[in-house]
Parts: sequence; structure tokens; C-alpha cells
Amino acid sequence: MKNLRENIEALCITSTSTIRDALSLINREALGFALLLDPVSGLFSGLVTDGDLRRALLNGFGLEHSVQVAANTSPVTVGENVPYEEIVHKFSEKIRIIPIISSSGKVTDVAILDRKLRIPVAEPTMGETELMYVSDCILTGWVSSAGKYVELFEKKFASFCETKHAVSVSNGTAALHLALVALGIGPGDEVIIPSLTFISTANAVRYVGADPVFVDSEKETWNMDPEGVRQALTPRTKAIIPVHIYGHPVDMDPIMRIASEKGIFVIEDAAEAHGALYKGRKVGSIGHMGTFSFYGNKIITTGEGGMIVTNSAEIDEKLRLYRDHGMSKTKRYWHEVLGFNYRLTNIQAALGLAQLEKIEEIIEHKREMASLYRSLLKDIPGLCFSPEMEWAKCVYWMYCLIVDPEVFGMSRNQLADALREKGVDTRPFFPPVHRQPIYNTDQTLPVCEDLSASGINLPSSNSLKSEEVEQICRLIKEISGGN
Ligand SMILES: *Cc1c(COP(=O)(O)O)cnc(C)c1O
Repeated sequence: MKNLRENIEALCITSTSTIRDALSLINREALGFALLLDPVSGLFSGLVTDGDLRRALLNGFGLEHSVQVAANTSPVTVGENVPYEEIVHKFSEKIRIIPIISSSGKVTDVAILDRKLRIPVAEPTMGETELMYVSDCILTGWVSSAGKYVELFEKKFASFCETKHAVSVSNGTAALHLALVALGIGPGDEVIIPSLTFISTANAVRYVGADPVFVDSEKETWNMDPEGVRQALTPRTKAIIPVHIYGHPVDMDPIMRIASEKGIFVIEDAAEAHGALYKGRKVGSIGHMGTFSFYGNKIITTGEGGMIVTNSAEIDEKLRLYRDHGMSKTKRYWHEVLGFNYRLTNIQAALGLAQLEKIEEIIEHKREMASLYRSLLKDIPGLCFSPEMEWAKCVYWMYCLIVDPEVFGMSRNQLADALREKGVDTRPFFPPVHRQPIYNTDQTLPVCEDLSASGINLPSSNSLKSEEVEQICRLIKEISGGN
């Protein structure tokens, strides 16, 4: 079901209009119906669909006849504050369009039954500011990686993360790769990472020729277990990459303590956690560097894109050098190091800047939807919702459930299949990286393996509506056999 509030005038004609007027409106708006208003009072007076008009024409009425001969002057309508569920119940094979009428008799919205009802796991939301900034790039011709938006986006992102520097790059994987390059990590070195993460974290370590060392997750936060990190240390360990998984911050204090004891580096992989707080501090600003992704399904997006934040001027300079072919700042086309082309374009940065301007609202909305999910799912036995520790502000990149099949009565995969049948899209948790074909170690990391087998991401778009969350939770309840 979708609502059309903003566009409602475009769907209205007066009840004194002709069949031709109604057809031309339907042709223009492409929704298959027109709303009739009383020409004097402007109040709702009927509904006419393309089917109604077709029947009238077949019955011998002409284009210049009044639309009244075809219209339904007492269609099913609902009042303004009728809950979503009640509206849904009024839909049928015949009734697919329900005008929503205010107490004074004005049409305020229309509920339309969408035959292909589908709630995706994640879709980006683009607005007028995005369009305006991107248009500016196109109109001025600044479409490549020079141009004002790159610098504006970097400055604003650094300030958002409370760091001194931010270096934009072409994606989140490039951010991780470049961070390792800037630290001089290479063959023979080891980098400790959690096994429950997206593949990029490990791949970036491989790109520089170093070896990823996988550690297990904590039960409480699903993040890398500091005790596991301590046990994984060897004389070859050069860095730790904690990952703020699904938007929940890692317990950073113990990790930073280990790193400073051993004189090794910490790169926070914050690809999923823009704006999350650890003890009041922004994630990404706590380690020596923090990396972010702006892929289409992340908290904010530039289409493809990434960022590295740091407080070190020296690291910032290295990152900029390696991002741009390793070209000397003073001598053009002169390369003393092996660099990369990992630049973000001005168009991408323009998108990013517009998205960043509304990130606080996005995060607030995500937290509201999380609390709604949590409250609606809390009484279903065998399900456990995303955690939030008392020292953390989680940004809920993905809303997650852990399914205990014994208690819930079915497995994670069965729940996913049942939801898909009802048009609700989900994703399983990442498979453990230490089990992936390209890494396949003989380790057993029980917490991470359990989470990975029983965790599911629920629809998590920034545009997700509370009605949709209610609907999803009601479906989960039905599927579980509850009521
Ligand atoms: C998305 C993601 C990345 C990679 O970002 P891309 O922009 O897709 O390259 C890295 N690490 C984690 C944890 C991610 O979720």
C-alpha cells in the first residue's frame, strides 16, 4: 500500500468535468483513477477509475458526457486517523483505491493497494538537495575528482566525526586498503580482525600482502572479543581492525589498551556505523584511523564511496599521496611511491554532502524504528533483537534478529523464506570470514559461527515507515504461530 499525500491536487477534478477530462487526468497521472470534488465546496464527491470510464464508453456515453455517469459517488473511504491495519482490511479484489477524508470532507490522501507489495532490506533516499548539488556539478562541468564538493564533504565529514582530517576515497574497501598502505603494513605482518564482518575487512589485509588473523565475537555486542584479540597477538601483529558491526560500537577501551601496550595501530572499520557513539565519542575517531563506506545501502550514500578519518596530519598527508597515484606534490608526473587512483568524484561528494546534511535525522529515525521493532517483537519467544549496551549509541545500520530455532519453532532460513513469500525482504548475517573459501582456516570460533547461522537482517531502509515495521512484526508473529 502506498500513500500519495503530496500529489493529491493533481488527482482531482470537479464533478462537473467531462469523461474526456477524467481520461486526460488518468493518462497524465498514470494511477488509473481520478477524484471528484464538488465544484462549489471543493469537498470530496466521488471516485472514477479507468475501468468505470471504459464501461461508460462501451455503454454508449461519449467523451463530452459528464463524468458523473461513470463515477462512483459513494465509494469506500476512511477518516484521517484510521490505523493502517484497518485500511488494509478494507481492501479487496474490487476495492484497491480508498480515499482518506478529513472530518470536514476534504480528501487528504489516498490509500492504494500495491499488488506487488515488497519491503526491501535497504534502499537509499534521495531528495531535492541531492538533486540540486549534483545538478550544480553537471551545470558547471565539475564532474570529476576536482571541484568544491570534495573538499566541502571532507571538511563536513571530519567535523561530523570530531576528527581533524577526513580523506575521501572511491569506496569503503579502498579506504581500508589505503589505511593499511599508509601505515606501511605489508608481507610478513599480521592484522587482527573479527571473523563476523563483511569480506572487505579481510581482503584489504590481503591486498597489502599481510595475513588477517580472525577472532571470535562477544555474545553481548556481536563485536570482536578483546580477550580473543589478546590471545591472537604475535610478534608479527602490526594492527587491529575492530568492526562496528551492524551499527553497534565496539568496546574500544580494551582494544586501545592492548594496542598501546604493544605499540600497534588500530583502524576502526566504521563502514556500518556513521554517527554511532562509544562512551560519548564518535566511532572512527578513537583509533589511529577510522574508515567509512557510502555504498548504496549504508547509513548515508554517495552511490559508491568511502572516507578515512584521522587526527594525524602525517597520516592525512600519506593518505592523500597514495590516493592520487602517489604523485609528488611539487613535481608533476613524478612518483616516488606506488600509489592508486582511489579518488572520489565531485558528483559523488555532492551527493554525500547533501546526505550528510540530514544524517542526524536519518539516525534519529533509525533509532525510532529500532525501538518500535524491539517493542513489537519482545514477546515472541525465541527471538532476540539487536543489542545496545548502556555505554553505546547504536545507529542500527541493519535491524537484526537472532533466531533460536528450538524455541521459535523454525530456523532463520525458514523465517526468511516465509517473510519473502509475504513480500518482505531480509538478509542472513555475514558468513564467518574464516569459513569463506578464500580464507578457510581450521579455526572454530563458536560465538561468531552461531550468530552467523542464526542472525537475520530485517528491512532497514532510511525510508522505512512505522506502518511497515508494524506489518513486518505482525507477519513474524503470524509466522511463529502466535497472534
Ligand atoms: C560495506 C562494508 C565495507 C566495504 O565498503 P564498500 O564501500 O562496499 O567497499 C567494509 N567493511 C564493512 C564492515 C562493510 O559493511
